[in-house]
Amino acid sequence: MNRVWVWWLGVVALFAATRTAFEYLDLNYVLTVMPYMAVSLGAPLMILVGTLRNRPPQRTGWLLLATGQFAYFVADALTVVDEWMGGFVEPTPADVIYFASYLMTATALLVFIRRRTPGWDAPSAVDALVVAIGASLLAWVFVLEPLATDSSLPLAAKLTQSAYPVLDLALVLLTARLVLGSSARSVVLYLVLGSLVLMLAADTLWLAVGVDDELPVPEILMDDLWIASLGMIAAAALHPGMRRFDERSPVAAPHATPARLVVLSVAVLIGPGLQYVQHLRGEDLSVPLASATCAAMFLLVLFRMAGLVAAQHRAAVTDGLTGLHTRRHFTDALAVECSRAARTGYGVGLLVIDVDHFKRVNDTYGHPAGDRVLQEVARRLATGSRAGTVVARYGGEEFVVLAPHTDAGELLALAERLRLLVAGLPVDAGENLLSVTVSIGAACASHPDPESLMRDADAALYSAKEAGRNRSVAAPVAAHR
Ligand code: GH3
Ligand code: MG
Ligand code: MG
Repeated sequence: MNRVWVWWLGVVALFAATRTAFEYLDLNYVLTVMPYMAVSLGAPLMILVGTLRNRPPQRTGWLLLATGQFAYFVADALTVVDEWMGGFVEPTPADVIYFASYLMTATALLVFIRRRTPGWDAPSAVDALVVAIGASLLAWVFVLEPLATDSSLPLAAKLTQSAYPVLDLALVLLTARLVLGSSARSVVLYLVLGSLVLMLAADTLWLAVGVDDELPVPEILMDDLWIASLGMIAAAALHPGMRRFDERSPVAAPHATPARLVVLSVAVLIGPGLQYVQHLRGEDLSVPLASATCAAMFLLVLFRMAGLVAAQHRAAVTDGLTGLHTRRHFTDALAVECSRAARTGYGVGLLVIDVDHFKRVNDTYGHPAGDRVLQEVARRLATGSRAGTVVARYGGEEFVVLAPHTDAGELLALAERLRLLVAGLPVDAGENLLSVTVSIGAACASHPDPESLMRDADAALYSAKEAGRNRSVAAPVAAHR
């Protein structure tokens, strides 16, 4: 079963070659179109076969794809009848079924994207939107506007022919979103992507020829592109990796890789580039359109930049293991609170908290169990502190709590509350329930400077350890430093 997808691609290549040969031999139309029709019918069947044999955890997306591709085959068959017998009025029955097929494919892509994405992954959505806006501008200038202004076409034909590029743009958006999302790269993803890109390329050529029939695009090329696209989507379903295709990504948002930046740069430059090309051709891009596109691009890029800056900031101030603040954030906060205390005269309290005999936890139960203990201790410290208090991981198994607007009595009460929260209930370290305690050094001052407050709290912690651990010790109150 594992290699069926390769065999299938081989068969598709054979059909494509046969079709091209028939075309060159100038055989009759129905015979020439047969190999294409065989692949068009084979694709949904193979998607179905792949889905039934590979048994993905969720079949919805694949079954939608198969149904969509089957509708595509029916529409292809109607098109053949249409071309053979000549002349339906647009929208033909084939058009309507093609539209339904696009919508089903789009829905399948949405299902895949939803399942692969943890949360909403707004950055990837914004990137995909940037790509789709660039593509929309091209579609408007080269296809939609010429169609809209073509006085020889009746309205129904205009609307029908415009629906194709609009549906293609929806697929561009979803394809971009699928590939720009943070999920794993796999053969199946590349096959799905290849299929969509070839299909969109064939559609684009077909639309271009529809608008300007002087264009030197051989029909052979288009039909072979379509065959290759159908072959690849079915190969994706036959590939055993399809089982994991819609697995949820472990990473919430994608990295700004060079490839992504290139894609985004190209998309952003389409607007200005197109304006210049139109200028050279003596046809100026409409000012409202150019301004609207540029404005949309700027806003999306700014939104994306704001997101990146916020993510960088979050990463800098959040400890990866415990989710508490980092030492860096704490140091800044301590400086700010000390200078505020100097102005207002209110006291600043500082607790330095160290897990007792933590090395034993690591040595006896392993490092991962130690990590679980640190996470649970951090959670209890955060729950036990009121809003406005900064709880941070100072390093290793040492934590700090900065309590502004506090006196020595309140600070010691807080220290005891936190100590009992940790010691009160055993900690679930995975396979074992461990009894964990902390020692706490407390220091409080009304005109403090950061270094001496830290030094006093450290000295108090040392006394707590000396006195037997699992206790809070307050440094003598230093009022005027
Ligand atoms: P004491 O009661 O005197 O504080 O004894 P202790 O064993 O807790 O003291 P010590 O400072 O010697 O041990 C700290 C240990 O914490 C050593 C180090 O391996 C461990 N540690 C530091 N950071 C991490 C971490 O991120 N995860 C785990 N699992 N262990 C860590
Ligand atoms: Mg320590
Ligand atoms: Mg310790």
